[in-house]
Amino acid sequence: MKFFFAPEQLLHQQASEFNRGELTAPFETGTRAEAVLAALQAAFPGCAGEVGAFSLAPILAVHDQSYVAFLKEAYAEWTSEGRSGDAFPMAWPAQGMRAEITPSSIVGKISRYSFEISTGITANSWEAARRSAETALTGARDIAIGAPAAFSLCRPPGHHAGRGYFGGYCYLNNAAIAAQFLRAEGAARIAILDVDYHHGNGTQQIFFDRADVFYISIHADPDTDFPYFLGYADEIGAGAGEAFNLNIPLSRGATWSAYGQALAHSLKEIKDYGPDALIVSLGVDTSAGDLLSGFLLQREDFRSMGAQIGGLGTRTLFVFEGGYSVNDIGANVTEVLEGFLD
Ligand SMILES: [Zn+2]
Repeated sequence: MKFFFAPEQLLHQQASEFNRGELTAPFETGTRAEAVLAALQAAFPGCAGEVGAFSLAPILAVHDQSYVAFLKEAYAEWTSEGRSGDAFPMAWPAQGMRAEITPSSIVGKISRYSFEISTGITANSWEAARRSAETALTGARDIAIGAPAAFSLCRPPGHHAGRGYFGGYCYLNNAAIAAQFLRAEGAARIAILDVDYHHGNGTQQIFFDRADVFYISIHADPDTDFPYFLGYADEIGAGAGEAFNLNIPLSRGATWSAYGQALAHSLKEIKDYGPDALIVSLGVDTSAGDLLSGFLLQREDFRSMGAQIGGLGTRTLFVFEGGYSVNDIGANVTEVLEGFLD
């Protein structure tokens, strides 16, 4: 199995983030990607592949043109209005306010295109995000031309990014972009299995009314955890997409006992769906001791997770999402991939 990583993804680095009432060092850092990269290089020597360059077309097949134009120019606009430091949103349109307006002020614009306060835009966020999407696309292309599996080491992550908004450390929805690319390359049906601790609100939004991409997520109950306003079990898809969105929220403190059952159920649903390809949004922030999360998966559980996914026998692209305990994430990703390959 090849793995793909573009070093330009490291260029995005916020100076700080606002989390739980405090200004802290950012949790989503390039160090995370470097830790996973080092683990993959040790576990899979000779399997590193080059990340290709793509036009904007596969990104615009998923994201709104106005949003992509905003992302490209946001930081330059921020500094041209006399501001320094990282660009952050400030105010969101609550119920009764004018959600359809895009203010001309960059502060208003950043607010318009975001949904939460911890994620900002730096001078290099666009370049890093674009290369992250291209890392996913390179893995998808590898699958499209016949590889049974690939791993795209994407950073910044993607699953919280919606069609027209960023947040949750995500700017471009790497898994969604890869799924749409595989559809364009001839796959009739794609399943996206999201095993990150947090619900992938962006991925759900993008495919909610479609039957050709089945989104399944196992995650912390949004009643207690980010992103709070999406990810509940009664969100099953709409229109043609009805029954092709499956949310399995689990309580904080979940161990492999509950998680393994949820995973087995998810894989049964995917098998019945019969996808031409599977994309796994692989967050390992389900690990016990993760800095931002509350599940209690152990090292060996990640191997079981990989083995169960591998049991499907479907060609599979793994796209890296969350995981914030830098000392553990490389080993946990490696366990998933080794379990998958066994
Ligand atoms: Zn997460």
